[in-house]
Formats: sequence, C-alpha cells, structure tokens
Amino acid sequence: MNKLAEWGKALADVFMPRLCPVCGNALVADEPYICRACLAALPRTHLEDIDFNTMEQLFAGKVPIERATGYFYYQKSSPYAQILFDIKYRHCPEMGQWLTAHAARDLRASGFFDDVDVIVPVPLHPSKLAKRGYNQSDYLARGLSQTLGLPVVNALLSTHAHGSQTRRGATDRWLNAQHAYALRSSHGRQLANKHILLVDDVVTTGATLEACSHALLTVAGVRVSLFTLATARLD
Ligand SMILES: [Zn+2]
Repeated sequence: MNKLAEWGKALADVFMPRLCPVCGNALVADEPYICRACLAALPRTHLEDIDFNTMEQLFAGKVPIERATGYFYYQKSSPYAQILFDIKYRHCPEMGQWLTAHAARDLRASGFFDDVDVIVPVPLHPSKLAKRGYNQSDYLARGLSQTLGLPVVNALLSTHAHGSQTRRGATDRWLNAQHAYALRSSHGRQLANKHILLVDDVVTTGATLEACSHALLTVAGVRVSLFTLATARLD
C-alpha cells in the first residue's frame, strides 16, 4: 500500500471505525477483521495434535476419515460465535478467507495438511446460494488454498433443498443430510487417488460432512480429511 492509501485507510478508520466482531472495539489499520487481542485469545482446539481426537471419533464407524480438525471451539454463548455468524449471514465471507489463511499458517507445522492434494468446499444448495449470494465454505477453502498452494475443486453438489439445519433435531438433521450431496459427474477422474481436504464452517452433529465424505469416497482411491473453521465441543 502506498502512503496515501495507508493514510486514507487510517482516516476512514477514524470516521467509520471498523469493529472487531468479538469484542466490539475499533480495529486499527493493520487489523483487517479481528483485533490482535481477540485473535491471540481465540479458543483454539489443537485437535490436530491429538491422535483419534473427538472430531475423528465423531465419524468413526460412520465414514472412513484420514484426519479431522476444527480450528476453534464454537459455543453459542461465546463472543467468538459472532465470527461464524458474520461469515455466514452478514456478508463478510472475506473474514473467513482471511482466518483460514491464518489457520493454515498456524497448523502447517503440525503436519495436518501433509500429503493433501486438493481442497473441496461443502456446497450450498443453489436456492440458498441465490438467496445468500455466496457460499461461505468457498471462501474458507480459498483461504486455505492461499496459504497451502493447493487447488480448490468444487466437486460436490447439494441436491436437496433442506430447511434451516439449526432448527432440527439431531436425528432429523442426520436423515435430512443423507443423500443430499452428490459428486459432480465431471469430477470423478480428476479426484481419483487424491487425498481430499473437505472444508466447512462448523461441525456440530457431523451429518453434513459425513454425507459429503460418502459422496467423495465413491471415487476410486480417494482419501478424505476434514477441516472446519470451528467445532462444537464434542466430548
Ligand atoms: Zn477484539
């Protein structure tokens, strides 16, 4: 950024302060989305450092997964939940992209992303996409791709319009997510024998990720790992 642009941005921050979604304090010029203090205090899960962690246990016996992690803990009452809300509903998916780019730098040393070939976002049903205007998981995948230098492939289709997942019971959600995702027919050959990183914003019951994984595993030789920006406490 040149001096003038920097000065302009600083001035804009004075008159139209951008606020940290977590603490509500005004952001300074080099804090693009979340303030430094809140980012440092992010309730990280560190699940990637644990063998057979709680997220991997969630899928055990349901679908064969290589590895799984969520970057931070999601709790409804936590001010950090606002990040997920803003990404999904308040037209701020760029914050998600920025945060997953950061997460990828943070997690890279753990080896979590080693030997992953391609990143696949969980798709949004076309009717929801039309309403919201974007798929937040696309942005999360893009952020990971930015840091890891891996391609993003939109290999999945959402085939059923399902109602708001948040209002349904666990069994209902599970039933609803079954068969709701399918592989785009043109992507089978491209994904054969690849280690796929499937990406979503948050995991609660795991039904969506399970259904998407099943769809990906119909391709020969595919292995699937899971990354979510956040996860409910699963223990
Ligand atoms: Zn803050």
